[in-house]
Amino acid sequence: MILAEQHAITHVDVVVAAPLGALTYEVPPGDRESIHIGMRVRVPLGQRHVWGYVIATHTETPSSDFTLKPLVEISNEISLPVHLLALVRFASDYYNVALGDMLQAALPLKAKEKTPRFLTVGDALAASCNERMTTLFNLLKDNKRGLTAAHLATRLGISRPSVAATLRTMQKNGLVQIHGTTRTKRRQTIAPLTAWGFTENTDKPKLTPEQAHATDAILASINEKTFSAFVLHGVTGSGKTEVYLRAVEQALLLNKSALVLVPEIALTPQFGARFRHRFGDPVAVIHSGLTPAERRDAWDRVSQGDVRIGLGARSAIFLPMEDLGVIIVDEEHETSFKQDETPRYHARDLAVYLAHRHGCPIVLGSATPSLESMANVSRGKYELLQLTKRVHQRPLPEVTCIDMTTTELDPDGVFTAPLLNAMQETIDRDEQCIILLNRRGFSPHVLCKGCGHTFTCTACSISLTFHKRRNMLLCHYCGFSTGVPQTCIKCESDRIEAFGLGTERVEAIVRERFPSVASIRLDRDTTRTRTSMEKRLQDFRDKKAHILIGTQMVAKGHDFPEVTLVGVLAADSGLHIPDFRATERTFQLLCQVAGRAGRGTLPGRVLLQTYNSDHYAIRAACAHDAPAFYAQEMQLREELRYPPFAHLVLVRFEGENEQETKQEAERMSSILRANVRMGEIMILGPAPAPIERLKGKWRVQTLLKASNRASLHKALQHMTVRPTAGVRWVVDIDPFNML
Ligand code: ADP
Ligand code: ZN
Ligand code: ZN
Repeated sequence: MILAEQHAITHVDVVVAAPLGALTYEVPPGDRESIHIGMRVRVPLGQRHVWGYVIATHTETPSSDFTLKPLVEISNEISLPVHLLALVRFASDYYNVALGDMLQAALPLKAKEKTPRFLTVGDALAASCNERMTTLFNLLKDNKRGLTAAHLATRLGISRPSVAATLRTMQKNGLVQIHGTTRTKRRQTIAPLTAWGFTENTDKPKLTPEQAHATDAILASINEKTFSAFVLHGVTGSGKTEVYLRAVEQALLLNKSALVLVPEIALTPQFGARFRHRFGDPVAVIHSGLTPAERRDAWDRVSQGDVRIGLGARSAIFLPMEDLGVIIVDEEHETSFKQDETPRYHARDLAVYLAHRHGCPIVLGSATPSLESMANVSRGKYELLQLTKRVHQRPLPEVTCIDMTTTELDPDGVFTAPLLNAMQETIDRDEQCIILLNRRGFSPHVLCKGCGHTFTCTACSISLTFHKRRNMLLCHYCGFSTGVPQTCIKCESDRIEAFGLGTERVEAIVRERFPSVASIRLDRDTTRTRTSMEKRLQDFRDKKAHILIGTQMVAKGHDFPEVTLVGVLAADSGLHIPDFRATERTFQLLCQVAGRAGRGTLPGRVLLQTYNSDHYAIRAACAHDAPAFYAQEMQLREELRYPPFAHLVLVRFEGENEQETKQEAERMSSILRANVRMGEIMILGPAPAPIERLKGKWRVQTLLKASNRASLHKALQHMTVRPTAGVRWVVDIDPFNML
C-alpha cells in the first residue's frame, strides 16, 4: 500500500467536452486525499468555467509551459466508471479523434426538460396492468394449453370486444401470446408469456445440445471472470437469443452486469421484450428514437446502479456500466455498428476492448459472421461456437435460384412464373410470404427518350428516384426533391420515362396480380416514425396481410412463424457496388432474408431471381454453405490485401470547389507519400470517390493500406498541417463506407 501523505495527488488531467486533448490542473490542498479518476470537476478554460472529468492523476507537478491553474469545483455527483473513461481514451487514440470530442459523443447531452418515459419491467407492469389484466393473466396461467377470447369473455362476464381490446394491450406489452390466424379468429388461443418471467422464470426452454454446448463454454468463462471472445455462429432460427439470455442470467447471478448490443432495436422490438420479460431486473434500452431526456434518464439509472442490463444500438457501448460479467453483440456483422460520422467508431470493436478491461467474455453472435471475426477465429484469438441446426429439428428452408438468363419474365417485367406460382400456392394455403427488393421508391432512373438525358440530383452525382405516390423525384442521399418534369430541360421533348424497379412499384404489381390479397410494404418511406414501423410489423404478425414487401428491413431478425415463402428480386443487385465488402454483404443479406422462412412448424422455401446464379456468394447462400463462402472470400481478400488481411484508413477530402478539393487531396497525398517508408504502407489515390459529389461537396479520396496498424497511426501524424480553407478532411479508420 502506498502511503497517502507521501504520494498525495497534486495534479489531475481533465477531459472536457470540447475538441481538445486532456488538460492539466492543480488540485487544491484540501481535496488531494479525496480526488480520484472519474470525478466530475469544474475547471477554468479560457474565460469560462466548464465541467469535465478527471482522467489521470499526478503525484508530482508535471512539467508544463504554463502555470497550472487550480480546479474550481469538485462535484459530489456519481463519478464516471474508470473503465468508461479508459474506453473513451482508447477510442480517441484509435480513431484519431480529439479526446474531448470522443467524450462528448460518449456522454448523453444534458437534457433541459426531464420527461422520463424510461420503463422497467416493474414500472411497465404497474403502468400497464389493471385489475382486469391481472385476472386475465391468472386465468391464462392456470390453463397451460391456452384459452380463446370467447372463453375469457364468459369467465369474466364481459363482452368479447372488450376482452379483445385488453388482450391487444397485453400482447403489445409482451404479456400474452396469441396463436392462430385472423381468418379463423374464433379459434385463436391465447397463452400467457410465463416463459419470459412474469413472476417466475420456471418455463425456460430446454436447451438443444448445441445450445447447451455453447452456453457451457460461455458460462465457464463468465465464472472465471477473465476475458475471452466467442464467435457464436448460429444458423437463422437456431436460438442464439436463448444462449444470450443464459449468459446474461449467469452474469446477474454473480452480481455482475451485462451489456447487449444490437444493430437496430426499432426493427426487432421482440428482442428487447424477451430480455425484459426473462429477468426480474430492469433493462436500460437505448435506441435512436429516445429523446435526449429519456437517454439521459436511462444513463443516470445505469450510473446509479439501479439497472444492471444495458441493451441498445451502437451508442449503448458508452453506458456507464460497472462490473460487467458479459458483453453480447448480436448480428455482429452488421455495418450499423460503425458510426458513419465523426467520431467514426465501431461499437463491436470497442466492445472487445471493453471486455478486456472488465475481464469478462464477449459473445459475437451472427448467422453470417464478418470476415474479420472469422479471421480472428482462424488466428486462434476468438473461439468458435456453432449452432448448425434450427430448434425443434426444424429444417432450414430450401433455397432455389431462378436463373434470369434462361427464365422469362412475366409481362410485368418483375416476376418470373415460378415465383408467382409459389406466391399463389402460399396464399392459397393461408400462409405468408416476404418479397425482398433492396431498393425503395418506384423507379430508380428517370430518362428523356428524346436525348438520353438522365435526371440527377443538383447536389449529388446520384440519379433521382421516382416516387409515384408522392409524384416526386427524390435524391436518396441528400433528400433533395423536385416535381416530375413535363418536358426535358435539355431537348424539351416530353418523352420522359421512369426505368427500373423499386419496392413501391413491386407493391403496385403485387396488388394487380393478387387483387384480393392484402400486402404491407416496409421500407424507409413507409416507416418514417417508430410507431408506423411497429404497426406494420405487428399487422403482418397478426396476419392482416399475407405478403410483406420491402427493402433489407424485411431481412432483419424477425420471427414470423407463418412465413413459408421468401422471394428475392434482383438477388445480385448488391454485387456491383464498388466496395470490397459488396460480396460479403450480398451473402449476408441473402442468408438473413432466407432465414425468415420456415421458422414455425411449417417448412419454408426461398426463391432467388438472379442473373448471377453461378456467383459463389449466391451459390453458397443457396446451399447454406457458409464455409464455402468464407473460404473463397478469404482467399480473394488475401490476394487483394483487403481486411482482414490488411488494415485500412480512408482519407476523404471534401469541398465545394472541385479543383481546390483535388489539389488539396494531391498535396496531402504527396506529404503522406514523402513520409512513409516504401513497402510499409500502400497509398492508393487520390481518386474521385465513387459518389463524386454529395450534398454539394466534391469528394476525393486516398486509401492507406498496411499490414500493421502502428505504421498507419504513425503516417497519420504527418497530417498535422492545416487544411486549405474550403476543404475538409475526414479520416476514417477501418472504414466501412467506401462510397
Ligand atoms: P436466431 O436468433 O438464432 O435466429 P431465435 O433466438 O430467434 O433464433 O430463436 C428462434 C425461436 O426458437 C424463438 O421463437 C425461440 O423462442 C425458440 N427457441 C430458442 N431456443 C429454444 C429451445 N431450446 N427450445 C425451444 N424453443 C427455443
Ligand atoms: Zn431530352
Ligand atoms: Zn442529393
